[in-house]
Amino acid sequence: MLEIKGLTKKFGSKTVINDFSMTVADNEIMAIVGPSGAGKTTLLRCITGLERVNAGAFYWNGKQFDPVNPDKNDTIIGVVFQDYQLFPNLTVMGNITLAPTLVKKLGADEVEKTATALLERLGLGGKENLYPYQLSGGQKQRVAIVRALAMNPKILCYDEPTSALDPALRDEVAQIILDLKKQKMTQIVVTHDMDFAKNVADEIQQVEQIQ
Ligand code: ATP
Repeated sequence: MLEIKGLTKKFGSKTVINDFSMTVADNEIMAIVGPSGAGKTTLLRCITGLERVNAGAFYWNGKQFDPVNPDKNDTIIGVVFQDYQLFPNLTVMGNITLAPTLVKKLGADEVEKTATALLERLGLGGKENLYPYQLSGGQKQRVAIVRALAMNPKILCYDEPTSALDPALRDEVAQIILDLKKQKMTQIVVTHDMDFAKNVADEIQQVEQIQ
């Protein structure tokens, strides 16, 4: 279970998130929704350690952790960015194996084996040696999901996973998220797409704009 307690985030004198608390149960899909500018992306950036909070604490199964300084050997949070942020100069396999070998210091053989199995699972078998520019938007997103999964996170976070996708691919990513839930992955999805949130989420957390 993930617990966020009393999270406050300011940019200068502007408070974007004020004393926010949330619990995400194991194996749950939590959608974070709210109007444009309410702070959804900022909240996700705090959870994924890309922004430092002004106040608040994060707990995984009761144990406090700092998303900004993650334990290299015990990844709690994984993230799939809105624009995927694949490394353009690396192949699909290179994108996936970089962090596990560099950060976790896992052996290349082991990491490639895991990556190959994950690629197969997400319908990307045989794409290992392609570069991001050779992939469609939906394929890039699935590579970004595999890249996050290769770190074996406890929770996978997505920022607006449907925003760049046409309706058919939107259903596809919903299916991927639901399949990962079946495999016991806890997931947090930031989205402005209320239909998508209602279709995939177990729980919906509304983020309100601070006046
Ligand atoms: P959208 O749905 O439009 O993406 P959002 O709910 O994700 O919006 P955020 O992108 O988190 O909202 O932005 C929340 C507020 O924080 C906005 O007023 C934005 O201008 C401000 N903000 C975000 N990042 C920064 C930053 N690095 N410096 C200053 N202000 C920021």
